[in-house]
Amino acid sequence: MAASVDGFFNEYGGKYVAEVLRRPLDELEAEFRRYMADKDFLDELETIRRDYIGRETPLYFAPTATRLLGGAQIYIKLEGLANTGAHKINNAIGQCLLAKRMGKKRIIAETGAGQHGLATAAACAKLGLECVVYMGEVDVRRQQPNVAAMELYGATVRPVTSGSRTLKDAVNEAMRDWAAHPDSTHYVLGSALGPAPFPDIVREFQSVIGREVKRQCEERGIQIGAMVACVGGGSNSIGFFSPFIDQKEPRLIGAEAGGVGDGIGQNASRMTGTASREGIVHGYKSRFLIDEDGQSLPTRSISAGLDYMGIGPQLAALGKSGRVEFTAVRDKEALEAVSFFARNEGILFALESAHAGAAAMKIAKQVPPDKAVIINMSGRGDKDVFITSPVFRPAEWVQFLHAEIERLEAAKDIHDADSMGRIKE
Ligand SMILES: *Cc1c(COP(=O)(O)O)cnc(C)c1O
Repeated sequence: MAASVDGFFNEYGGKYVAEVLRRPLDELEAEFRRYMADKDFLDELETIRRDYIGRETPLYFAPTATRLLGGAQIYIKLEGLANTGAHKINNAIGQCLLAKRMGKKRIIAETGAGQHGLATAAACAKLGLECVVYMGEVDVRRQQPNVAAMELYGATVRPVTSGSRTLKDAVNEAMRDWAAHPDSTHYVLGSALGPAPFPDIVREFQSVIGREVKRQCEERGIQIGAMVACVGGGSNSIGFFSPFIDQKEPRLIGAEAGGVGDGIGQNASRMTGTASREGIVHGYKSRFLIDEDGQSLPTRSISAGLDYMGIGPQLAALGKSGRVEFTAVRDKEALEAVSFFARNEGILFALESAHAGAAAMKIAKQVPPDKAVIINMSGRGDKDVFITSPVFRPAEWVQFLHAEIERLEAAKDIHDADSMGRIKE
């Protein structure tokens, strides 16, 4: 089941959208098919991947983790070394390049924590496209460092004030914009979900991760026992798993946000949790954290990127068929994994990716020592300093923030920059 059949992965997926969105979705599907067979497009994508994103990313053997965990050989796919710090740039560059070839001048995107908005803003700056990012007003306030970075890349961040003023409202607003401007605009969806053809498009652009892993393992004679990735919407995991889905082996393991407990509102566990059910949200059928009336339930995770109510339809189907196993990782276990890999390997995982790290730590002993467990480190942890510092060094962090505010209030030379990057006097 490497691709959808008419937009469906068994019973999941589909294209449940208003009539006005059918034409842009059909056009996108036809153009995507065309360009994925166009040598010139694929050559340009390959060059950008190499010179701008920094591919291929390393497959790192982790000797100390291997010794300490006492089982499988531990390898880490370092997606966090990609430009902008995470795997999201793979999809953003692919879709923006496609949109440019389709003659679109304007890109819109939704973002929750800001990571997808940031990757899209960077891709638009690189390719010379106008970029508008919809972001819930609550998220804008919480994620100022990413808002600042998007603006540095020249994007316009539009705060969304409807509903709960978070990610799901930003998605609705982006869909509305696209329906109103389908000829000039392309909507870059950020994960392997949404109405068809987005789950197929996002998987294809992220599958560069899995293809590299496959080649790297073949070249080095690495026998894979298990592959572990974290699952928010599912883009890094499906891209990482994609070349292996149609085989019986290796084991494919998805780590969901287990948050702080099993109760409603304490986690974001769509596949392992008790509160999850089937439904249709944002144009696709899958498993969601919703109540009997289809209303979204609260979610919780220490990692903003996994704190989402839905899961991509292909992963929902692969979970149901048993090809992909799912496990929930608690916030506390993810933090322990951040510290374990930083201390023992000199590698700082993003909190999202640390869920995969923690799941790998748990299963390492189940895999024989002549086989590998490969962890997809979807992103690096620099971005999490505002979350990890208050946990690991609470008193010092509060002192630091107070001192920073005093320093800024005392400084008089705070400037604005114009569009050429020149600082105004
Ligand atoms: C956004 C994000 C995720 C979760 O998104 P997926 O679509 O499930 O990959 C995971 N890791 C990082 C670093 C992210 O930024």
